[in-house]
Amino acid sequence: MDKRKKYFQVMTVLGIAMAVLGYRGITDGALRLHADSAVFAEQDRPRAALTFDDGPHAKYTPMLLEGLRKRGIHASFFLMGKNIEGKEKIVEQMQKDGHLIGNHTYDHVQLNKLPGDQACEQILKTNNAIYEITGEYPTYLRPPYGAWPKNLELCVTMLPVFWDVDTLDWKIRNVQSVEEIVQREVKDGSIILMHDCFATSVEAALEVADVLKAAGYDLVTVDELLVT
Ligand SMILES: [Zn+2]
Repeated sequence: MDKRKKYFQVMTVLGIAMAVLGYRGITDGALRLHADSAVFAEQDRPRAALTFDDGPHAKYTPMLLEGLRKRGIHASFFLMGKNIEGKEKIVEQMQKDGHLIGNHTYDHVQLNKLPGDQACEQILKTNNAIYEITGEYPTYLRPPYGAWPKNLELCVTMLPVFWDVDTLDWKIRNVQSVEEIVQREVKDGSIILMHDCFATSVEAALEVADVLKAAGYDLVTVDELLVT
């Protein structure tokens, strides 16, 4: 049986059983426990998330979006606020295609090197620029250089997203080397860091997507990895 169907059947049976027994409220924990094991059974394929920082880019982001759309893959884009103006249509397309849109600060600043109010402003200004286009405030933030000072949690309620596979695509600008790094380091649950600002990165990302798919990976957005 299709695993997704099986999952929903399990959930339906659980739901009916709880309703019949009148335990829905007080056995919430038990329900969740069963739900988790059903989800686990569904996810026996390894998963990884392709993530792209520093965009949107006028030329390369649309190329990447088109390639991902053809493959039916959802990725996560962490946008720099200052790059958004004039590229609103690209951000609209990202949303329409079902990608996750996150925040990468306004000017690509290292947040722990700024006074708290300026760091918060970098984040809030970018959230507002994204909201103007999508009608939704981002939940996830990729801190430039991975620097996430704790005091920021006082002014924003965003979840920082780091990575475990650093492709160094911005530095090596070589499709084959990027692929080799991913193939060497990827594992179930990996978050792969790339940048949608270079031709080589777009080409590598799409090839990596094909290679991972062929290896049995489901490519998902970061919220799917972090929530379950
Ligand atoms: Zn960056």
